[in-house]
Amino acid sequence: MERNNICPHCESENVVNRGLSKTKNRGTQQRLLCKDCKKTFILDEGFWKMKNKESIITMCVDMYLSNLSSRKMRNQLKRHFNIKVSHVTVLDWVRKYILKVQKFVDKLKPKLSGKVYADETTIDCQRRNDIFWCSIDWDTRFINATLYAPNSQNLKDATEFMKRIGKARRPKYIQTDGLPFYPKAFTKTFYTRYKKDRVEHRVNNVSKTKKHNVRIETVFSKIKDRVYDFRGLKAVWSAPILMAGIVLQHNFIEEHTTTGENPCTLAGFDLDVGENRWDGLIRMASIQT
Ligand SMILES: [Zn+2]
Repeated sequence: MERNNICPHCESENVVNRGLSKTKNRGTQQRLLCKDCKKTFILDEGFWKMKNKESIITMCVDMYLSNLSSRKMRNQLKRHFNIKVSHVTVLDWVRKYILKVQKFVDKLKPKLSGKVYADETTIDCQRRNDIFWCSIDWDTRFINATLYAPNSQNLKDATEFMKRIGKARRPKYIQTDGLPFYPKAFTKTFYTRYKKDRVEHRVNNVSKTKKHNVRIETVFSKIKDRVYDFRGLKAVWSAPILMAGIVLQHNFIEEHTTTGENPCTLAGFDLDVGENRWDGLIRMASIQT
């Protein structure tokens, strides 16, 4: 992937470096000169016009998504860095950069094992219950499909979820719980007359077997833990964005405890994001076409 230096004034690519510029909030930045319109500019690497340092902003995104509330984050910033921002500002940063990075990673194509474990989680959003449908590709631990639905489980959502699971590659098998909508949704999505294309539907009826798949449960329980904290969220519209953030955190930021790798690495992405992975992803999302 190539870095895309484009003049924001005339969209010319005929630009050259023109020394460093001091910025008010974000230290020294590379200034560029457009040889066509002769104007200079600083490249937007995702933090343009932000009033705080990118290291502070990415730390907030990272820590919020790995389990610190926006209010606690605000308190930590004040205590340790004497930075005064509201908890809403913290949440605004989190949402802004989730959306930015999500748009970027949506274009990437993961290499998956096709062994899929699917589950649904209820999200208590004050007056109503939302359902978060989520599936994990076994070998990579990559979360390969999600669906955020503002209503209880139903056949339409189950079918849409199955379609999303099959999008990147046709699965070998999908394991679900005993939810009655699954068999129909499964048949609708994956039925074929050809033996070689068949997808196996494994049902794990926990109330009968009393057996959980412990290994995969750890991933889902991590998600459920984090969802629990969203219960107090007043802005219901932001719940799906934050859920997307949890998935990004799982797929692209944190190393999986069993595999010791980032799921995105196992899914074949060679992303040069550096040690501060959120910072790296945001820059990639901002400068690449
Ligand atoms: Zn120009």
